[in-house]
Amino acid sequence: MKYIFVTGGVVSSLGKGLAAASLGTLLEHRGLKVILQKFDPYLNVDPGTMNPYEHGEVYVLDDGAETDLDLGHYERFTSTNLSRLNNLTSGQVYTNVLAKERSGAYLGSTVQVIPHVTNEIKDRIRKVAREMTGDIIITEIGGTVGDIEGLPFLEAIRQFGQEVGPENVLFIHTTLVIYMRAAGELKTKPTQQSIAKLREIGISPGIVLCRTELPLDQDIKDKISLFCNVVPEAVIEARDTKHSIYEVPLKLHEEKLDDLVCNLLHLETPQPDLTRWRQFVHRVINPTHHVRIAVVGKYIELQDAYKSIYEAIVHAGASNDVKVEVVRVDAEDIEKTGADTYLNGVQGILVPGGFGDRGTEGKIAACRYARENNVPYFGICLGMQIAVIEFARNVCGWADANSTEFNKATSHPVVSLLDEQRKVTQKGGSMRLGAWVTDLVPDTKTYKLYQSATITERHRHRYEFNTQYKEPMEAKGLIISGMSPDGTLTEIIELPTHPFFMACQFHPELLSKPNHPHPIFYGFVKAALRQRNAED
Ligand code: GLN
Repeated sequence: MKYIFVTGGVVSSLGKGLAAASLGTLLEHRGLKVILQKFDPYLNVDPGTMNPYEHGEVYVLDDGAETDLDLGHYERFTSTNLSRLNNLTSGQVYTNVLAKERSGAYLGSTVQVIPHVTNEIKDRIRKVAREMTGDIIITEIGGTVGDIEGLPFLEAIRQFGQEVGPENVLFIHTTLVIYMRAAGELKTKPTQQSIAKLREIGISPGIVLCRTELPLDQDIKDKISLFCNVVPEAVIEARDTKHSIYEVPLKLHEEKLDDLVCNLLHLETPQPDLTRWRQFVHRVINPTHHVRIAVVGKYIELQDAYKSIYEAIVHAGASNDVKVEVVRVDAEDIEKTGADTYLNGVQGILVPGGFGDRGTEGKIAACRYARENNVPYFGICLGMQIAVIEFARNVCGWADANSTEFNKATSHPVVSLLDEQRKVTQKGGSMRLGAWVTDLVPDTKTYKLYQSATITERHRHRYEFNTQYKEPMEAKGLIISGMSPDGTLTEIIELPTHPFFMACQFHPELLSKPNHPHPIFYGFVKAALRQRNAED
């Protein structure tokens, strides 16, 4: 097994996750089996209890782990299937160390960051190497070099590098080369200083990956090489991509990153065949058609809150030869001025997942607008619950129908908690999480899209469609097109008379990949295109 550790310097949000994922793409295309993972220095056990404003989207894995959104990049950019082993936080490290201390595992010793905390981190790397099959593990260290909480992770990977030997480990440092407009110059000093900081700890990066707005000329590369103790070829330009994040692997390949990595780690591999990746990127950048799809949510101004949804839309757009312009609509604005103002002129409406009642009435109004005006609708998780509430109120005529998440006293609790969730008192990791099987009903639109009788999708929710209302709502025309195999949980609904009205209790966006768009996203974008063509 070979090990690559990716660190970041100068600023956060450098795109370390994308860089790690893109390197994964390149190495996988060279025939290597790649494992990607992330170490996060914060003290939460996982990001599941964090607000999207703090952390962006929570990415859920098959095994139900609630993880950092960078794991979404890893799974989209490679064929790796990750598990809770692949996102280690300081919270988990300390939980384990303290549990061991209480059980007497360290009897007699003073428990310290070095060696107990660092051993715990190294043990995790070894466990991944033992339990997952692969040729190479790429580990991204969250945060920025110089952060106090990141130190134990850096110390652990330094020690680990010593233990496995220099031919098996490579440190890649990602930095920002700043363009000073006033001086008209690129500045390398922050890069030099962040590498100096890393070398102080005993880590010498073999490759420096420089995020930059402008091309790095040879002088700049030479300067970084000289001050940072790397050969000039190992100073890699990672320029902002113009159109799409999926261009990043192609750009890094042009910079010969994958050749360099393979040389440094003594990996004999052929050149990658990136034809299919290039074709995908070409379809993303040069589509024939154009549609506008509104995403009606409450974290709309935050790019990262619905990350996987936006990516799944890109995948579905590319396969339909469509540029999807996402119109971000704040559900609370709809509450103030009505759905029409914001949704007039869109060819599709998507209501994503969410928690808490802020903005829900705006989402219900958006859903009503879609249903009544025959605009394609796609509801995800909360977006399905919204569709159920809207149908209950405006088609079944139960005016105060609601989810008990928003109104405990409603006379029609069409969305409610299962008994097992009622007993839950602990917030962290206690939702219905991870991959669950759904049986699809033949002769439904859902079945036609999936072309399969059973599917597996990832979940993250507490509330469910209240099956008590199944029959009366079906009598009014709602179709339940997917249920849990035991027939108790409603997973997908659709409206047969509408051009496209589909909503699911799970998160389909988590399984969409560049060359494998998710079937419902594909169908939704196709319906939006039909809508657009009908308008013309
Ligand atoms: N708040 C809803 C629930 O817990 C929906 C969750 C979601 O959209 N992820 O069931």
